[in-house]
Amino acid sequence: MKIPFNKPYFTGREAYHVAAAGATGKISGNGIYTGKCHSFFSQRYGFGKVLLTTSCTDALEMTALMARIEPGDEVIMPSFTFVSTANAFVLRGAKIVFADSSAENPNIDVNSIESLITSRTKAIVVVHYAGIACDIDKVMEIAARYNLIVIEDAAQAIDSYYKGRALGSIGNMAAFSFHETKNISCGEGGMLVVNDMDLAPRAEIIWEKGTNRAAFYRGEVDKYGWVDVGSSFLPSDLAAAYLFGQLDKLDDIQKKRKAIFDLYQNSLSVLQESGDIHLPVIPEYSSQNGHLFYLITNTPQQRDKLIRHLNQQGIQAVFHYLPLHLSQFYKDKYSGLPLSQAERYAACLLRLPFFYELTEDEISYIADMVFLFYKG
Ligand SMILES: *Cc1c(COP(=O)(O)O)cnc(C)c1O
Repeated sequence: MKIPFNKPYFTGREAYHVAAAGATGKISGNGIYTGKCHSFFSQRYGFGKVLLTTSCTDALEMTALMARIEPGDEVIMPSFTFVSTANAFVLRGAKIVFADSSAENPNIDVNSIESLITSRTKAIVVVHYAGIACDIDKVMEIAARYNLIVIEDAAQAIDSYYKGRALGSIGNMAAFSFHETKNISCGEGGMLVVNDMDLAPRAEIIWEKGTNRAAFYRGEVDKYGWVDVGSSFLPSDLAAAYLFGQLDKLDDIQKKRKAIFDLYQNSLSVLQESGDIHLPVIPEYSSQNGHLFYLITNTPQQRDKLIRHLNQQGIQAVFHYLPLHLSQFYKDKYSGLPLSQAERYAACLLRLPFFYELTEDEISYIADMVFLFYKG
């Protein structure tokens, strides 16, 4: 059996909507399908202002502009995350203050945040790893006391909830990804969410190259021009149409992906009980959204051997992230404490294949091969 790590899912509705977008005669950004996606997400999840972007990386870069990050400002975020979480703020000259992950799961250790705050701290960025919520009420409470901006890197967190509230609807701003490895996708794509409505008017300007073109098209101003900084963050309406073809089937996609997660969790629970591996911990305040499935080995050697073993059986298991505080780019700039949990996840976390079309047979084969490794 050959089982890839990821396989993009086509709902079959994408081509229809892309053709329909073409037939409107306007396929540049902020067209009809962009509007349809905006309404869908704001209605379904109670988001403030929603803007599709060309990637989550771009949405994160927008949040740094919106937060008016300047050279020397400090931004707190977990070290165990994708590079874009940090790069967005480094581009504005920020100093990144890396926090450790919690012992329970790879999300930021909320109890470590307060000791990292200084007079230069401007924002806290949290990542809902694997679509499992961090304890964001606690983060919001700390941010309120120190007057800091909270940004949710919700790249992996579409359709997931914290105490019944959609992830991405809680921080001042949030960024989602529609990259092909995420639950719903348009190849490369993303979304900025602005919940702090004081920040919202600027978002649209930054999105459209620093101009008030969006307000002009709504008839709110009689000419448009350069009013602020900005860039070209908006995707073509063809990408929005493709994404809309996925939204048609969102409930079906989510049902299937959550079932895959549960099946992995149930199939491997015996190995957790025997102390061989650790499985994802979902705190009672969080849902799971079937984004990815990981297990944690007891030692780095076991993780690397297990990956090799699975690869030999045709199963493409992978690992990620190298902790950012130890990266080639940042290690000489990092002056904080060792981050033992971030390093543990980097060394011991293993991701199993995860995609819509993964079958029950394939999952039981994968689970059998993990059993074989431990119980020979
Ligand atoms: C996927 C991902 C990103 C980047 O998303 P792109 O859309 O590829 O730019 C950022 N942060 C996290 C946590 C991610 O998983």
